[in-house]
Amino acid sequence: MTTTQQSSPSSPALSETITAGFAAQVANAPDNPAVLADDGVATYRELAANATAVAALLRDTGSTGPVALLCRHGVTMISTMLGALQAGRPYVPLDPTFPARRLAFQLTDSGATSLLTDADNGPLARSVATDAGPAPVDADPVLADASTVDLAGMATAADPDATAYLLYTSGSTGTPKGVRQSHRNVVFGARNHIRTFGITPADRTGVLTSFGFDMAVTDTFSALLSGAAAAPIDIRGRGLAHLAGALDERGVTVYHSTPTVYRYLVASLGERALPRVRVVLLGGEEVTARDVRLCRRHMGAACVFVNGYGATEVSFIAQHHLPPGAPVADGVVPIGRPLEGIEVVLLDRDGRESATEGEILARSKHVALGYHGRAEPSAARFGTLRGERTYRTGDLARRAPDGTLTFLGRADRQVKIRGFRVELGEIETCLADLPGVAQAAVVARRAGTGRGETELVGYVVPRHGATDEGADEATIRAALGELLPDYMVPRAVVALAELPLTVTGKLDERALPAPPAQPPAQPPPSPAGAGDELDGVAAVIARTWCTVLDLPSVGRADNFFDLGGHSLLMALVHEDLEGTLGRRIPMSDLFAHPTVGGLAAYLSGADLPAEDAVDAAVERSARRRQARARRAGR
Ligand code: ADP
Repeated sequence: MTTTQQSSPSSPALSETITAGFAAQVANAPDNPAVLADDGVATYRELAANATAVAALLRDTGSTGPVALLCRHGVTMISTMLGALQAGRPYVPLDPTFPARRLAFQLTDSGATSLLTDADNGPLARSVATDAGPAPVDADPVLADASTVDLAGMATAADPDATAYLLYTSGSTGTPKGVRQSHRNVVFGARNHIRTFGITPADRTGVLTSFGFDMAVTDTFSALLSGAAAAPIDIRGRGLAHLAGALDERGVTVYHSTPTVYRYLVASLGERALPRVRVVLLGGEEVTARDVRLCRRHMGAACVFVNGYGATEVSFIAQHHLPPGAPVADGVVPIGRPLEGIEVVLLDRDGRESATEGEILARSKHVALGYHGRAEPSAARFGTLRGERTYRTGDLARRAPDGTLTFLGRADRQVKIRGFRVELGEIETCLADLPGVAQAAVVARRAGTGRGETELVGYVVPRHGATDEGADEATIRAALGELLPDYMVPRAVVALAELPLTVTGKLDERALPAPPAQPPAQPPPSPAGAGDELDGVAAVIARTWCTVLDLPSVGRADNFFDLGGHSLLMALVHEDLEGTLGRRIPMSDLFAHPTVGGLAAYLSGADLPAEDAVDAAVERSARRRQARARRAGR
């Protein structure tokens, strides 16, 4: 590899850009690992060469706007992110698990003038690209040929106050909003993180969330600006069994995820431990004392447990650190104290400052630049107080006399579903826009299953009476699935003659009927499954589903997602089926065959285990269920 080495950046202002911070690390230790991913490993020099090649490709296009990225969760994605920044252009990460129509919206709304993709996502990119938008370009061949590093170009690529990325969050009025963040603020957040957790080149930071979410920004750039290695792990694509193994193999030392993903991880660990993890950082939704206890049981003896509170619009705002042995009160763990450079102001209902309780207003130089092209929501959320920028979070908190903050919930209708930020209003708008629907409401409630997670339930008033063809549950859920990410599609949709109202004319949530607790009535069995008992592989699948979904029985024609299943639960099914059937099954096959009968037929067609192997598998499955029941009871 030819390398055009240049001195590291000298201007203090320029070191406030992501690219200059990265260039300094490339110059320091070019052969250190920078990315350890499912799709390969890259040293700092290799990653810099990739970025340089992508930047050259982008410059050749002659366009200057944002660069949309639809790439796999690994080296390709990070290379294209850095390449866009090196070309002096913001990046817009697109999540390949989102429906094409939502991705097309993000592409258009962001004003992206280039779209980079890879071999895995080419077909999706082509279906997303509109006639008017940029044509997708495959970055894989460019990366394969990358060899030259332009450190000087990297160090001077951008202005610190230029936009580094646009990240889309759910929007209450039906349209997602793109949060614009600057290089300077990303570098500030990454350096705060590096200092707080003492991150060094020996560290490995896990990148578990998709690059379209704020957590991945901190995880990636705290590594790349400190000489550590970022370890992107594709949970959606490869499953949870893969997560524990990947954390272990790649020696992840700084673990960061939502509590939901963490709890699934720990459940998948069984009696195993991850002794190299020295920081467990959870955030995005409420963290409990049980999470701390699980950390002490499964992670390194010196592992620090941290509840991190923040939002895409500011990154981290406050943190609560619990070193090993620190006492933990039962219940919800506080969100702690504001980070350096950030002040938390509490506002009462009348917008006056309160010393003890109110809505969190984050006041800092490092608040995001605003919502892209959305003047009204930007004005409602972003402002200025005593000469400093502010972001109104919508979160309620109490401040103890020692300054520790405790999260008290939301002041509005934003909820978290498995750690994902969801505006109920956005789903309601999509529902009400469906042809068979006259009126719609969506609520979040505690799920009836043993896991007690929050689930979404939709209520609709059909346009022409309850028998309207376009208003049946399956049609509505399928239509929403084309518009919204899977975590925003309600688990159940209930048709009502009218929505119950309070005396003041608001939706009376308490008067809404509970959705059916049991799975919806099964459609008539297919001829192949008519009246028969499930046997062989189908029986193994059905038992696994019953355990994971906490249901007494499932039928051949039942669809996993209609029964309350979601991607994390599918990951548990994946782990169980691989162990039970004793063979590797790509996660994507489970998503492609979501019914018991369909999956059984597919798996049987593809290398069916021998008869006695199935019996042995059934027995293994029973042993695993017993072991899980024992673990759950501890
Ligand atoms: P994040 O990646 O931090 O979850 P989002 O923008 O997706 O960022 O969501 C921000 C919202 O998530 C916050 O406004 C708050 O409601 C919730 N949240 C974030 N961290 C916590 C936490 N530690 N405890 C409780 N709620 C949290």
